[in-house]
Amino acid sequence: MAKIETDYLIIGSGAVGMAFADTLLEETDAHITIIDRHGKPGGHWNDAYSFVALHQPSAFYGVNSTQLGSGQIDTAGLNKGYYELASGSEVNGYYERVMHQRFLPSGRVSYFPMADYLGDGRFVSLLSGEESTVTIRKKTVDATYYGTNVPSTHVPKFSVADGTALIPPNGLPQLWQSKGPRPEKYVILGAGKTAMDVGVWLLRSGAKAQDIIWVAPRDSWLLNRNTTQPGVEFFDQTIGGQASLMEALAQSADANEVFARLEKDGVMLRIDPQASPRMFHYATISVGEVELLRTIKQVVRMGRVQSIDAHGMTLEQGDYPVAGNAIYIDCTATAVERRPVVPQFQGELITLQMIRVPQPAFSAALTAFIEANFDDDDTKNALGRPVPLPDDIKQYPAANLTNMMNQMAWMQNDKVRHWVNASRLDGFGKTIAGIGPDDADKMATLNRFRANAMAAAGNIPKLMALA
Ligand SMILES: Cc1cc2nc3c(=O)[nH]c(=O)nc-3n(C[C@H](O)[C@H](O)[C@H](O)COP(=O)(O)OP(=O)(O)OC[C@H]3O[C@@H](n4cnc5c(N)ncnc54)[C@H](O)[C@@H]3O)c2cc1C
Repeated sequence: MAKIETDYLIIGSGAVGMAFADTLLEETDAHITIIDRHGKPGGHWNDAYSFVALHQPSAFYGVNSTQLGSGQIDTAGLNKGYYELASGSEVNGYYERVMHQRFLPSGRVSYFPMADYLGDGRFVSLLSGEESTVTIRKKTVDATYYGTNVPSTHVPKFSVADGTALIPPNGLPQLWQSKGPRPEKYVILGAGKTAMDVGVWLLRSGAKAQDIIWVAPRDSWLLNRNTTQPGVEFFDQTIGGQASLMEALAQSADANEVFARLEKDGVMLRIDPQASPRMFHYATISVGEVELLRTIKQVVRMGRVQSIDAHGMTLEQGDYPVAGNAIYIDCTATAVERRPVVPQFQGELITLQMIRVPQPAFSAALTAFIEANFDDDDTKNALGRPVPLPDDIKQYPAANLTNMMNQMAWMQNDKVRHWVNASRLDGFGKTIAGIGPDDADKMATLNRFRANAMAAAGNIPKLMALA
């Protein structure tokens, strides 16, 4: 049995563990040990389908020390006019570079891939079976709390009869290798961002909309990517969007009205204008993608799929026959698990969660800064309250309230404010900093934001009482 000593033991080298380690490296002299089941850093991005990409700009993603991408604005495709979105392979290459060009050469990071954490400072190599024990001088950092779940690694919760073709999205670009007949129907199972990526990929790769069936148990509100762009040139959309959000939270009587107002102001989108979405997971999309997805007319809203066989599907609300040679694409993995919030700092354990939603990388980096620069758990927890992740739209006001309370706490603390303002992962702060007091239009937008933020803080508890 090998014996290792370290200051911080981080379990998980996904986006969250990597962002935490990067800032801890910058802010302390500590030694860090990172272990992960995967063979390479990057977490779930190692298992993603080949056509996956970030759904928010690369500018806000990764580790604080190292830019992701080249800061280009796309000039073609469905993201035209917006800042680039790193592809999955770019994200994977980026994390490998961060590990091999920054972490390991520092001499202060030990990395154990293909290693399963067993608890109590013990881990086992998945290849040799050898167990190691770690003497942890400071803290254990759990960077696995969200239990990210993707189609290629999860187990579907429905049964599939023998001879029925069910593939994860990863299998779609491999269809050229298939020796069987060409599929006549493509059945997308699931209604989250992965399902939307699959719909867009199928249509852009040549499938006909009439050959696509989309099983969508719930409709979702979606963030308009127009309102998530870095840079002063997008001030009206981003800060204007934040002002609209505050206005909607201040003036609405219930969550439905919040989203209806945000749709009117161009902040939220929905694929079917007749549907009343109940779900909100911060999936971010462009208007072009929405328009493409609207061409899929066979949308099955009969609940979740329970079983699939040669005749079709059994769903919660009945049977749906599917004729011909169909291929089913499993997009039913939960992605980010909705787990109860727990204090991030509890003695010798740090449980990383989002302290600004939807920004997992920023949250982990700032949590490392707080760990390095403040002494007691009460102070640290007051600066890093985890945001409860919404699933139903009624939970959205509560998530905003925690976002707002955290932001206020950060701005009132000199050390944290300076870190946030300088952080590459904090996009909108720089957009606001770039505005001069003589720019009357932009100052008016900022004032609309500020005035409504006060009113929103007053109204949100009423909206939360309805949840
Ligand atoms: C398709 C997709 C696209 C997304 N796009 C964006 C985006 O554009 N912007 C954004 O902000 N967010 C996005 N997200 C949200 C996503 O959750 C985060 O970006 C982030 O990648 C999650 O990182 P993580 O470190 O929490 O989890 P993971 O990537 O799952 O990393 C956790 C790691 O912990 C390891 N691990 C778990 N248990 C153990 C154990 N016992 N022993 C050893 N190792 C263990 C796992 O192997 C894994 O490598 C996206 C999510 C998905 C699924």
